[in-house]
Amino acid sequence: MLTLRCAKCKAKLWKYNKLGKGEVVRCHKERITKMYKAIEKDGKMLCPCGAVIGHDKGSHWNMVRKSFIYSGEKVSKL
Ligand SMILES: [Zn+2]
Repeated sequence: MLTLRCAKCKAKLWKYNKLGKGEVVRCHKERITKMYKAIEKDGKMLCPCGAVIGHDKGSHWNMVRKSFIYSGEKVSKL
């Protein structure tokens, strides 16, 4: 499980169940297990500080690189 934070202000955004070892390029909505301070607005996911974290693409969020950092474990695909 990964915990995503804003790269600018370090606010906790959400918890994400990442599968595979790749970079976090998108976040599938069904695998977001907990929301913290992220705000959904006008098809974007925003941090309370105003930074745009991702764009709504239906079933997933397209993540803005450099707008977020994360910590925790990725789950290896079986
Ligand atoms: Zn922020």
